Amino acid sequence: VVAAARLLAVLAACALAAWTTPGASAAFSGEQRLLVMRITWGPEPFPDAMVQDVVFSQTDAFMRASSFGKTWIAGEQTPWLHVLSVQPVCDTRLIAEAGRSAAQAAGYDLTRYNRYAFLFPRVTCWWSGLGGGDTIFLNGQLSRKLVAHELGHTYGLGHAKSWDCVGRSCTESEYGDPYDTMGGGQGDFNAFEKTQLGWITSTLTAAHDGLYTIDRPDRSSTLPQALVVETARTDYWFENRQEDVPSFGGVLPTGVLVRADGRPDTAPAVRALPEVTLLLPNAAGPGRAALQPGQTFGVQGTFAVTVETQLDGQAALRFRWADGTAPAAPKILTPSPRVARRGALEVTWSQASETGSGVAGYDVSLDGAPAMLVQPGFALSPLARFRMPPRGAHRVTVRAVDRAGNRGKAAVRRFVVGKTTR
Ligand SMILES: [Zn+2]
Repeated sequence: VVAAARLLAVLAACALAAWTTPGASAAFSGEQRLLVMRITWGPEPFPDAMVQDVVFSQTDAFMRASSFGKTWIAGEQTPWLHVLSVQPVCDTRLIAEAGRSAAQAAGYDLTRYNRYAFLFPRVTCWWSGLGGGDTIFLNGQLSRKLVAHELGHTYGLGHAKSWDCVGRSCTESEYGDPYDTMGGGQGDFNAFEKTQLGWITSTLTAAHDGLYTIDRPDRSSTLPQALVVETARTDYWFENRQEDVPSFGGVLPTGVLVRADGRPDTAPAVRALPEVTLLLPNAAGPGRAALQPGQTFGVQGTFAVTVETQLDGQAALRFRWADGTAPAAPKILTPSPRVARRGALEVTWSQASETGSGVAGYDVSLDGAPAMLVQPGFALSPLARFRMPPRGAHRVTVRAVDRAGNRGKAAVRRFVVGKTTR
């Protein structure tokens, strides 16, 4: 117990909070003042009324609904500006420069806008739309889906991908999410994306076995709107998708969708900050993405989630860990066997190998004192700092504990505190 008093501070190597609460930043909100610059060398394929309807009516309505009224689109379109002498090559810089100077010459004050669209007849490019920074390019196509997708990029969203597996062989499909406007779909942004944008502010993180109730993500709610299961390789996002998403003349099945926010085969040691989602198209069985009441999605050796009920948009999800394997012992890096008696005692170790639920924390103990919990950082060596113990022989132990509660073997480092290092 005396040893516990020596404890100066125990610090995580870096902030875990930025990782687990992407919605903590300020919400993407307010009026988006968009200028649509129509530029051409001759053809004028999109009339005023169509631009008005697609951009300032349909896309505006989509953004208002998706953000629960937090953001919307205002602005205007230029007439067709005959600024190009011939059909240009696929060069966005050239198109943007020509469009901007033509709009300014026509009397538009570009500083009054914070979003810019260049709309032109079909040019030979590999893309029909591009979006980034504050600017989007619409190449011979104009639809609510395309405009919302490209604007979504300017809001900071990536693509809604899928993780397509045939047997044990899996690949990422760049636009593979058939529900999501940021993927191949027509529907709303997903719960991960809305959390990134600060539109959804309440999600549940599965910590213990139990029942978790979530509301659908496409409408405003006071309840949590997703269940997040953190594991060693990736996080899994469960959302209850109940609106009709059109697809090939029909609608996609409704139900609980499962997405990963990184490749599910990522080695735990090289995980990076999540940026995009990958829908699991077979979560409810071959070719079926949407879980119905009674169905279970599980990751072998890690966890399982069963949809118990789905009523009025609220889904009750039964979560349980299925990880019976403890993390390996970490490797202690410091202190070295002989330590000079000055400054603080820094204990560092390499991340313990753990491929199931993932390391929740490390129990670190100096000379058998009650262990202190250190949360793992992101791809850095974790660190615990103690007040330097007196001269003589000491012992520090570090043990990893996974999210499912399995305690790994302790790593032990014996060291001697002396006058100076030799
Ligand atoms: Zn895109």
